[in-house]
Amino acid sequence: MRKAAVGEQVAGAISADAEELIARPRLAEELPQSHEPSLAERYDWLEAMINHVPDYIYAKDLEGRFLFANKAIVLNNGLERVEDMVGLTDYDLHPSAAAESIAAIERRVMESGEPDLGFEERRLRGSGWLMMSRVPLRDKAGKVIGVVGASRDISARKRGESLMKAQAHLLKAVAKGVRLEPFLSDAANLLEEVIPGTAAAVLLHDEGAQELYIAAASPSAGAASISPVDILDHPAWTCLAISSGDGAQHGVLAIRGSTDHEASVWEFLTGVAQTIGIAIDRHYDAERITFLAEHDALTGLPNRTLLDRKLDGMLRRADKTSRKVAVVFLDVDNFKLVNDSLGHAAGDELLKIVARRISEEIGQDNLISRIGGDEFILALQQADEDFVSQLARIREAIARPLTLAGMDLQLTCSMGIACFAMHGKTATELFANADMAMYRVKENGRNGIQMFDPAMAENARRKLGRSEELRRAVERDEFVLHFQPQKDMNSGEIIGVEALVRWNHPTDGVIFPGDFIPLAEESGLIVPIGEAVLRKACGQAKEWQKQGLPPVKIGVNMSARQFQEHGMIRQVAAALAESGLEPRWLEIEVTESLLMRDVQGAIMKMHELNALGVSLAIDDFGTGYSSLSTLKRFPLSRLKIDRSFITDIPDDADDMAITSAIVSLARMLELDVIAEGVETEEQARFLSQAGCHAIQGYLFSRPIPAEEMTRVMRGRS
Ligand code: C2E
Ligand code: CA
Ligand code: CA
Repeated sequence: MRKAAVGEQVAGAISADAEELIARPRLAEELPQSHEPSLAERYDWLEAMINHVPDYIYAKDLEGRFLFANKAIVLNNGLERVEDMVGLTDYDLHPSAAAESIAAIERRVMESGEPDLGFEERRLRGSGWLMMSRVPLRDKAGKVIGVVGASRDISARKRGESLMKAQAHLLKAVAKGVRLEPFLSDAANLLEEVIPGTAAAVLLHDEGAQELYIAAASPSAGAASISPVDILDHPAWTCLAISSGDGAQHGVLAIRGSTDHEASVWEFLTGVAQTIGIAIDRHYDAERITFLAEHDALTGLPNRTLLDRKLDGMLRRADKTSRKVAVVFLDVDNFKLVNDSLGHAAGDELLKIVARRISEEIGQDNLISRIGGDEFILALQQADEDFVSQLARIREAIARPLTLAGMDLQLTCSMGIACFAMHGKTATELFANADMAMYRVKENGRNGIQMFDPAMAENARRKLGRSEELRRAVERDEFVLHFQPQKDMNSGEIIGVEALVRWNHPTDGVIFPGDFIPLAEESGLIVPIGEAVLRKACGQAKEWQKQGLPPVKIGVNMSARQFQEHGMIRQVAAALAESGLEPRWLEIEVTESLLMRDVQGAIMKMHELNALGVSLAIDDFGTGYSSLSTLKRFPLSRLKIDRSFITDIPDDADDMAITSAIVSLARMLELDVIAEGVETEEQARFLSQAGCHAIQGYLFSRPIPAEEMTRVMRGRS
């Protein structure tokens, strides 16, 4: 019996534990048959056990020849029976390199007498992993006569480990925030690697569209020759949903190959699909953040950051190709008016409409950006059409009638152009110059297109220099007042004096208010200048009184910025208190246009001034558009007829009619009236006939310094 012989041979030589198990049959002979199974029975059990375990069990002699091998090992080596294997060595069964590495381990075990436990190695035949344990085979005397080996299949554990590693790799990539495309290919490749025999593809929804496209595929998926439909409709492919965190579908993860995987593989695949979902979410988030950082939230147009970046590129290309680029500042005219009168929602809507209209006209290669408020910057590259006609088209588009909050509107805009490289080589220069050109359009009444001109820069530089000088002038108190008397033609008396400021410029000499008051208004310096004027005027008026001259009203001009200033009333009160001038001798002159800007606010301020005891005159009257009803609400004491109506008397019948009308109006409102700029006897005569007896002008006196004024007043008194 060959079988028994093998069994005996093994049993006779195995190590302590194994010997006990396998040697049992021999001991059993001594035991009573009635209590113990027969030797044959035991042998059958043992054989069944050894042959039924899926693990490999074998014994070899000192030369590495198989003494015994269980069924699993025999079959794995392509043989049928144990007998076929006995006497063979690993060199007969495996490539010599593999056989040698096994022999080396086994030699060590036999020579040292020490077991080698838990060695992990790949299967030599078929796929998977084994964990090998090898112990010395000893005879009864304890002498090593060979080696016994036992294996366990650890393929599942190994696969689990590699799946876990793959999963960790993908998660790490997501956490690091890699780019989406390489991440997806990486994931597909990894799947093919860790699940042998599969191919993988990631199909995603095209933005907005319902259709799927192949975003990534593993090498053996054959992505070049398949369409998304091939994958979705083919039974060889299994699809797992890729969802976003909010439950929406990004696409599917498709796996080709056997669907007959262990649960852990499916778990892994589900995990990968989830990880891909997270990666896509993060990708979109990052895209959205980048978009928000570079776009205007209201209109969706690029913001200044993006414009700067793109314009840089545009200018670099233009430099190489000597192509022309125009930078255009565009400002919607009177936007503030719409915003204030129709509300912010309407204002926002208007900006969106304008943004859309410009975008539609601007053309693909060009840039548009909203840089805040109602200001847009365009950057145009030279096309067939020249810049000005391109801009004219944009202007027409903006001017198309529209209805907003129930109001029919027609918009205009102001545009300033600066060209590369003529008007600047850098974006910063071009911006500054286009802005300057736009500013010029606004100064000239808005609604127009203006090309930058180097003279503008010269002007701006001068203006900047002037405002610096003006600041110093305030510190050094370079302002003096001249005074122009006002005369009552009936009595011949001086009834008032208007204080007019002059700037004694250290090098340029006397500068008249027309040349620096607008700048002072713009820069805010009008506030300290106005304060100084008030103090000087009140002080001078009080001085004349102290000198015993008949008291006169002193008129002081107040500009809009100064009138609206919070501390204005306090300024006036302080000037009066400081000088000791009684308030009734001070008359503040404000223009009609100033009052009409904010009627309600003006009325309040005027009442406060009245409460101080100060009187109020409307300067340049007739040039604004105040209605009779509005005029009635102002607590005024005097109207000053604007010089422009007087100049052409007696040649202009209209002006004469208007002047007469103003005089009647004043009488009706019970206000005093005075005519400014009276230069001729004829004008004075006409005014007198019309009922206006107070005059101011060169006819009587030019504005003169204080000492001269003192002499004039002395001569009269
Ligand atoms: P305004 O208030 O209308 O002052 C009258 C201007 O007309 C003065 O010019 C005066 O010199 C000039 N004028 C007076 N009579 C005649 C005349 O018969 N013929 C002609 N052609 N002109 C005459 P000025 O002094 O150059 O002042 C110009 C403007 O500057 C003033 O116009 C006023 O609006 C503003 N201004 C003057 N001083 C001050 C000031 O202290 N504060 C503020 N905010 N504005 C001032
Ligand atoms: Ca005045
Ligand atoms: Ca005036």
